[in-house]
Amino acid sequence: MAQRQFQTEVSQLLHLIIHSLYSNREIFLRELVSNASDALDKLKYLTVSDDAYKSFAFEPRIDISFNKEARTLTISDNGIGMNETELGESLGTIARSGTKAFMERLGDGDKKDSNLIGQFGVGFYSAFMAAGKIEVISRKALEDGAWKWISDGKEGYEIEAAARDTQGTTVILHLNDDGLEFADRWRIENIIKQYSNHVAFAIFLTYDEHEYDDKGEVKSTKQKTDRLNDGSALWRKPKSELKDEDYNEFYKQIAHDTENPLFYLHTKAEGSLEYNALFFIPKKAPFDLFNADYKSGVKLYVKRVFITDDDKELMPVYFRFLRGVIDSEDLPLNVSREILQQNKVLSNIKNASVKKLLAEFKSVAENDKTKWEEFIGQYNRLLKEGLFSDWTNSDAFADLIRFKSTKVDGWTSLADYTSRMKDGQKYVYYITGGDEKTLKASPLLEAYKAKDIEALVMNEEIDEIVIPRLHRYKKVTGVDADGKETFKEWELKSVNHAGADEELGVEENKDAEEKAKPAVEKIKKALGDSVKDVRLSRRLHDSPSCIVSDENDPSIQMAQMFKAMGQTGNMPDVKPILEVNGEHPLVKSIAATDDEAKIEDTAHVLLDQALIVEGLKPKDPAEFVKRLNRLLAS
Ligand code: ADP
Repeated sequence: MAQRQFQTEVSQLLHLIIHSLYSNREIFLRELVSNASDALDKLKYLTVSDDAYKSFAFEPRIDISFNKEARTLTISDNGIGMNETELGESLGTIARSGTKAFMERLGDGDKKDSNLIGQFGVGFYSAFMAAGKIEVISRKALEDGAWKWISDGKEGYEIEAAARDTQGTTVILHLNDDGLEFADRWRIENIIKQYSNHVAFAIFLTYDEHEYDDKGEVKSTKQKTDRLNDGSALWRKPKSELKDEDYNEFYKQIAHDTENPLFYLHTKAEGSLEYNALFFIPKKAPFDLFNADYKSGVKLYVKRVFITDDDKELMPVYFRFLRGVIDSEDLPLNVSREILQQNKVLSNIKNASVKKLLAEFKSVAENDKTKWEEFIGQYNRLLKEGLFSDWTNSDAFADLIRFKSTKVDGWTSLADYTSRMKDGQKYVYYITGGDEKTLKASPLLEAYKAKDIEALVMNEEIDEIVIPRLHRYKKVTGVDADGKETFKEWELKSVNHAGADEELGVEENKDAEEKAKPAVEKIKKALGDSVKDVRLSRRLHDSPSCIVSDENDPSIQMAQMFKAMGQTGNMPDVKPILEVNGEHPLVKSIAATDDEAKIEDTAHVLLDQALIVEGLKPKDPAEFVKRLNRLLAS
């Protein structure tokens, strides 16, 4: 038999698994059981959806057995099975992109948690933590031949013809020294109860039961088979019958997580739309959230039959961090996966679920601040995506999102902000473009600080796109006599824009305006078309200058970001407006001189330093340094 080579990624992964994973080694059993369960799901789905399988009768089950002397542990299922090609493809390659990044993550630090393996979906290979050699004997449903895959988990594997009576797969682990502890009835029972109790198919364990004589010697041995798991669909049970522990265990099983979820939502809808849904919020954001090929985490069932876990339309994209199950009573069992996308029932379930989740989030945000902040720490950015993409729920999202602020430590909500607003303050102010520290130190905020007015600090790139779209914040204040909601509304204003100081109510000062005019004119002339305009600032107190953008322009930071991404296509060439502080000595020094060279240097330094404090780059750093040095030496 010729050896076939593993794909490079598989070899690397196996090397990592064998040499560096020690924690939670027993999860390999969960992974193999989960593969068996998937194989049963697939076959069951075909028997209801595909005519070729219509008359295919089978009693789905998973069987585990072991032999301590022979050092083997065997997991067997009568599911869909694999043919020769599929064996090689499934157990010799890793189809998912992002494998390299994943392995780098596994590779750094000392804490290499096997948990990550399951999350990544390369579960089968984890069995090499316990086995020095693995045999997989498989026969595909409706096909005749069976095949055996054999490997020591090093360079490659062999595939040869084999025999198997029925469809399905048998995985035989030849246990290594570390794995021998798993050839034990109680150990297996505990692991299955802990990790796989809610697998929807029966799991059986076959073991030898000895009878002993008076001298303590084995008199007779009987082979026994016990069922290990409950096997009912947990999500269809009434809430009153379930404990937190049941939910937690189920979550760990479907999410391949070792930690409990942050919280969950279990709902049953009856009437025109009948379905059960169970959603979990993982404590830590799944690692692939920001990969284009993230794995969707919600499985669709129809009347307990698994249909798909690969439908990114099942839940809105912004809820891709959720794990869970939707089980519909109304969809036909033979619904094809392709048809799902335009299905009305499904889109109704989706909309109703989104509403329920948002209501649950609201309740957690109001009643359990600590939990909500944990949520925000992981998913704030996804709520912002929701705000941006799901306009019908924008008010709900605006209430859930949290922000940093110039006034309070930690997170704050728009509702809290508005309750702290000063008498006469008309707008909700916010600053964008840069990290929290840069933003908080921005000269743009000087006038706000002087007036003791709070600004929200928006330090994520996505804010610049999302927040202007929100535009106003609506706070529900109660209900009126007719039962209609009453509310107050505030416009959101970016302090990065010209005119923000006017809105702030800083009085125009005609005298100052007149006085500063000569300096402003000189600077304007010196800067030419590097800027859109030069103005006397009403908001600066200590700093000599700052940059703002025109009311309808994107911010300078955003323009630079697009430029850096090479996306200048639909972005106009945005130029900043320079605001100068007429009371600052640098600005005064311009008024006082006619030395053209000095005016030019000073004007450019005023512009460049305003860019630098906003975390941006001067147009020509070398030129900036030259000008600065000339000024310092003069
Ligand atoms: P995952 O299960 O996340 O896809 P695995 O490495 O555990 O990753 O399995 C790789 C593939 O091998 C599976 O997607 C499936 O196609 C196939 N496979 C594994 N175990 C079985 C089994 N018991 N029956 C049928 N196919 C299986």
